[in-house]
Amino acid sequence: MKPFVGRVVLVTGGGSGIGRATSLAFAKKGAKVIVAGRTREKIVETQEMIGNLGGEAIAIQADVSVGEQVKKMMRTIVDRFGRLDFACNAAGIGGKLAPTADIPEDDFDLTLAINLKGVWLCMKYQIRQMLKQGSGVIVNISSINGLGGTPNAAVYSASKSGVISLTQSAALEYAHSNIRINAVCPGAIRTPMLERVFNETGITQSRYESQIPIKRIGDPNDIANSVTWLCSDEASYITGHVMVIDGGVAAR
Ligand code: NAP
Repeated sequence: MKPFVGRVVLVTGGGSGIGRATSLAFAKKGAKVIVAGRTREKIVETQEMIGNLGGEAIAIQADVSVGEQVKKMMRTIVDRFGRLDFACNAAGIGGKLAPTADIPEDDFDLTLAINLKGVWLCMKYQIRQMLKQGSGVIVNISSINGLGGTPNAAVYSASKSGVISLTQSAALEYAHSNIRINAVCPGAIRTPMLERVFNETGITQSRYESQIPIKRIGDPNDIANSVTWLCSDEASYITGHVMVIDGGVAAR
């Protein structure tokens, strides 16, 4: 029996990487999936991958940093499915890799607008719907870079720290309303975002892996499996939690 039959999930950033793997993982467990992102071809591709698995999905083009678009996306979801059981807020960008004094102001604004304001906007409208239903689970994708300082990625790091703080605050506010809200902090995961880091820094995969206690780059499914588990009834007593999934890096 698939545990999420009849359940509806929204995955932002669902057109690639962690968001795509998470969309597929929810579909395999029987959920109806709304795949959201800015680039139509990418989200439609994920939708088709779910269709090929025999699952049900729709793709919604939306920029999570624009309030009106997030509001409209939520309206479309409720019109179509009548509810939203789970949300995984994975949309994000890496921002410019540079020391703090060399980061352009517009890059600061864009990184914060997508990575932090975007998560807040999504939660704002997701929580409103979940309050109406009397239940829901949200998982926000932060990063191990949000747990401390990151040279050459100060703004990205700050945005991901903010996601942890938003998650914990909202978890406390809505725990008594049967809405659970957790954050996942991935380490290095093999996605287009990490490929960009390899390309821009010249750091090789083997050098990266040598720094990871488990000695491998993570697979997007390592994150997707944890997100679906956090949404499941097996995790029903977990809220405000910050789950680190990094092959042991943060344990040092
Ligand atoms: P990715 O493949 O680049 O995925 C990011 C997705 O977010 C893309 O599909 C992108 O598609 C979407 N997106 C970006 N800006 C958006 C916006 N304004 N509105 C809607 N969608 C937007 O990278 P990923 O590694 O899977 O990243 C997923 C999440 O994991 C991010 O939050 C990232 O910070 C986090 N993370 C990744 C790693 C890693 O090593 N890969 C580690 C820690 C945390 P469009 O541009 O087409 O919208």
